Amino acid sequence: MTETDTDVIVIGGGPAGLSAALFARKNGLDTVVFDADATWMHKAHLFNYLGIGSVDGSAFMETARAQVDSFGVERHEATVTDVAEGDDGGFVVSTEEGEHAADYVVLATGAKRDLAESLGCAFDGDLVDVGVTMETSVEDAYATGAMVRAEEWQAVIAAGDGAAAALNILSKEKGERYHDFDVPADADGVFGGMSE
Ligand SMILES: Cc1cc2nc3c(=O)[nH]c(=O)nc-3n(C[C@H](O)[C@H](O)[C@H](O)COP(=O)(O)OP(=O)(O)OC[C@H]3O[C@@H](n4cnc5c(N)ncnc54)[C@H](O)[C@@H]3O)c2cc1C
Repeated sequence: MTETDTDVIVIGGGPAGLSAALFARKNGLDTVVFDADATWMHKAHLFNYLGIGSVDGSAFMETARAQVDSFGVERHEATVTDVAEGDDGGFVVSTEEGEHAADYVVLATGAKRDLAESLGCAFDGDLVDVGVTMETSVEDAYATGAMVRAEEWQAVIAAGDGAAAALNILSKEKGERYHDFDVPADADGVFGGMSE
């Protein structure tokens, strides 16, 4: 039995995964995140994330989780054991809770690349092979963050990768190149419920 049937499943809830989830859900796609909570951010202190002076990595994650929650992302603390292409398109993601279906999958598992390998994504050496859209060789499957980079492991890069993946999914869904712009008037309580 399929427990979840959604637009986007994100596997991994570090900066890459939560950024992908934020952009996807904020722009109307039902989005579920499965995360084992072993993000490298728990070991980091950021001085190099533009726009943020100095922040403990776990505190950064707490804010990021509250932000995605405020937009309605469904987050589960769970380990994904398998991801495969579905018989009728889309993907089937397996956890101990059961099987979950989605039209798109975003892999954001940090330096762990086993799920990308079992899904059949092409690799370039040790890295999952993606371009600037973050789409892998498997159509509608994306890979983001540390898993697609050699040493360029910074939170701000991972968050950018996640955003790029979600915007590419949104472009496919909306049938035209899509961007996510807001203006100051939008801050009057329209989005998210978080304030400065
Ligand atoms: C000691 C240290 C210091 C650092 N200092 C800095 C710094 O000062 N500035 C900076 O920008 N960056 C720093 N970094 C790097 C930064 O933490 C990473 O660039 C960033 O966390 C990468 O984000 P990500 O989303 O790609 O992966 P991660 O943050 O590692 O997130 C991956 C997530 O996927 C989950 N996951 C993996 N497999 C599965 C699965 N099968 N099922 C479910 N979930 C899964 C993991 O549990 C984890 O929560 C530091 C890292 C370390 C180790």
